[in-house]
Amino acid sequence: MRLAILSIHSSPLGRAGSKDTGGMSTYLRGLSSAMGQRGHQVDLYTRRPNSGEDRVEQVEANVRLINPGDGLAEVDKTHLYPYCSKVAESIERFSCLEKLDYDFIFSHYWLSGVTGHLLQKRWNKPHLIMFHTLGRAKNELCPGENEPQQRLESEARLARDCDLVIVASESEKKRVLNYFNISLKKMALIPCGIDRNLFKPLNNKDSQALKLYKGLKGPGKTLLAVGRIEPVKGFDLLIEAISRLPSEDNFKVVVVGGEGSDRSLLAALKDRAYNLGVSEQLFFTGVVDHSSLPVYYNAADLTVIPSYYESFGLVALESIACGTPVVAAPVGGIPELVSQNCTFGGLVKGRDPLNWAAAIQKLYTTSRPIPAPALEAGLAPYSWPAAAKKLELVLNSL
Ligand code: UDP
Repeated sequence: MRLAILSIHSSPLGRAGSKDTGGMSTYLRGLSSAMGQRGHQVDLYTRRPNSGEDRVEQVEANVRLINPGDGLAEVDKTHLYPYCSKVAESIERFSCLEKLDYDFIFSHYWLSGVTGHLLQKRWNKPHLIMFHTLGRAKNELCPGENEPQQRLESEARLARDCDLVIVASESEKKRVLNYFNISLKKMALIPCGIDRNLFKPLNNKDSQALKLYKGLKGPGKTLLAVGRIEPVKGFDLLIEAISRLPSEDNFKVVVVGGEGSDRSLLAALKDRAYNLGVSEQLFFTGVVDHSSLPVYYNAADLTVIPSYYESFGLVALESIACGTPVVAAPVGGIPELVSQNCTFGGLVKGRDPLNWAAAIQKLYTTSRPIPAPALEAGLAPYSWPAAAKKLELVLNSL
């Protein structure tokens, strides 16, 4: 089959951890590659600023990244909505030129959904959408988030008008059903996979980590948090919690990820850490290359995930695959992943820093690297080939 996959506001090959590029890109790379390996033709459509020309990059066998020239200058994600029809026109023009006849349109994030819906009407082909996050959930669950009405209305309309909504976790499935009141038949769950060649326990982890980042290893415990510096990641709670840990515990906290759309947030977090007396234990690395992240997960004793909301929570999966337990909020697919195996870490309900500090302390004093058999069993449901197989089944049933 031939798929047009839309990732308009952010390139699937962009630098994960930087502005507008995160778990969705990891998901798209893993799934597209696995679909390509199953012999399907995958065209990933994205846009590049100031491009008047069409650019096509063969990413790997059967997978292409396509930037149809749309003549638009750089348009930030928050201003892209009025240009979706122009983006759809440029995709249509490119596909006509190449005489491409897609079997399915698969849109990622609401802006691609709006674009994909326009193509659905023109091509009369099934339209699948994966929201990744929902504006309404961000607004309801995370103080400081203010997603526009346009997004909330578009997501409701898209859920109604598309042929299938894909989600990566049970909790997101429930949320979509609850928010949009669509039929269960119109939904499919395709969990994230994980690249086990990259995310795995390493033998020489300490020396590698030392070379990469001097603050990461040393005496005492190392806590890790990974994610863009966005309100929804809840790193404020991490700072509050570590300020309640006994100082004799000699811990370090490393936060990996670039700044998000609000540039004042990093400074606010650093100020808060200073006022709470923990700034010397806290290191912000900025963006780390995806391929180097396994070393960080390996060098950590515990990964902390205090997010207000996740649609899946890839960071938990990556950390566990590296053998490092997590202490996490019960959001997205994390409860499904963590609850099945007690060596994978623990969940903390609510946002009381004292509870978080207690859970962190308990886990870093008692937990050990996750044993190999537990890893194999726990990670079995999370593979890209399995995700591609599931998508294929779902598409064949449409
Ligand atoms: N990531 C990365 N480098 C960084 C920070 C994050 O490669 O500096 C990757 C991380 O490995 C994960 C993704 O970005 O695959 C973030 O996924 P998540 O779903 O947690 O983030 P979101 O999309 O919500 O920002």
